[in-house]
Amino acid sequence: MSKNNIMNTYGRFDVTFEKGIGSKIYDINGNEYIDFVSGVAVNCLGHSHPSIIKAITEQSKQLIHISNYYWNTKHTQLSEKLINNCDHEKVFFCNSGTEAIEGAFKLVRKYGKLTGNTDKSTLLYMDNSFHGRSMGALSITGQEKYQKDFLPLIPNVKKINFNDIDDLNENFNENVCGIILEPIQGEGGINVVNSDYLKEVRNLCDKYDALLIFDEIQCGMGRLGELFAYKKFDVIPDVICIAKGLGGGFPIGAFIANKKASNALSLGDHGSTFGGNPLGCAVSLAVLNELVEGGVISSVASKEIYLKEKLSELKNKYNVIDEIKGMGLLIGISIKINPKEFSDLCFKNGLLVVTAGTNVIRLLPPLNVTLQEIDDVINILELVMKKL
Ligand code: PLP
Repeated sequence: MSKNNIMNTYGRFDVTFEKGIGSKIYDINGNEYIDFVSGVAVNCLGHSHPSIIKAITEQSKQLIHISNYYWNTKHTQLSEKLINNCDHEKVFFCNSGTEAIEGAFKLVRKYGKLTGNTDKSTLLYMDNSFHGRSMGALSITGQEKYQKDFLPLIPNVKKINFNDIDDLNENFNENVCGIILEPIQGEGGINVVNSDYLKEVRNLCDKYDALLIFDEIQCGMGRLGELFAYKKFDVIPDVICIAKGLGGGFPIGAFIANKKASNALSLGDHGSTFGGNPLGCAVSLAVLNELVEGGVISSVASKEIYLKEKLSELKNKYNVIDEIKGMGLLIGISIKINPKEFSDLCFKNGLLVVTAGTNVIRLLPPLNVTLQEIDDVINILELVMKKL
């Protein structure tokens, strides 16, 4: 089995996985790991969930793909389900988080044009943010290491400091058509947006007629204990980008907009061959059904408390931990040593975790994780800390 044909863009662990069930995943040699990466916040119901298997099996016998020249029932049902759970009006389906960001980027640029101010094209974005790797998403990803080799990027975007009200006020003006932020920066290090800051962002958007975009690609779809992350904050964005957990492992993304924002896009403005296909939408409907009606999301708050309590105990015992960060089941452990060294040791002890920022270990369990599995993870983390 040659691995030489794959482009060298990822620093992978030296392991090949073959199957997974719930929170557990097994490599080709039969070794078991607890998966607290969940495909980076994708497998919200764990591996091989029966409802996902059923949806894929049944829908694939009916209809897998048609063109967006036609309607399909799963597409409209999924849009209805999402809209019934938020304060917004219309959805556009795509296939990934990056594509959701691209669509939202186009939407705010068009919105700016429609105001009649021909200079209203600036999109503000945050330092330390992560929105994806395409040229548009990369242009508004506030991390030099991702941008530097691909310059020049898309013009009329401006990076500002996350949670810095003065910097926000200095850079907001009538030429801003939109501002994008993650309510919790995932890749950037599990940094939670400050509520006063967020209120000021909303005020300035209203004052200058600009659109507020929330990137909920990592923190949405139940991970914070609400289907939509914005419901945990006292502010309603105009546009929400979602993906990852929306398909529970099947590639699907979307951007959702309120009335004034969605009216900006008209016939022919945007499209996607695969977006909204019956198979993806059927899987997503099954996932949302488990998350909302099945009570998975309502179990997140108690698991958050349990996990944070156990992590605090570890923090009190081992001085390698600086801080426990994050909300819901998007938790960061900021540590005093190289996080790569830490995650490698976790891996050697049968636990998958992912790093974030410069000094954070990210825990992204499936939302249906059990308390017993949390205990098992705490035991492994303790073992790793002892070794360190
Ligand atoms: N936005 C956020 C907050 C993300 O975490 C990611 C991926 O990690 C993206 C956007 C890009 O999503 P995708 O990799 O599905 O294109």
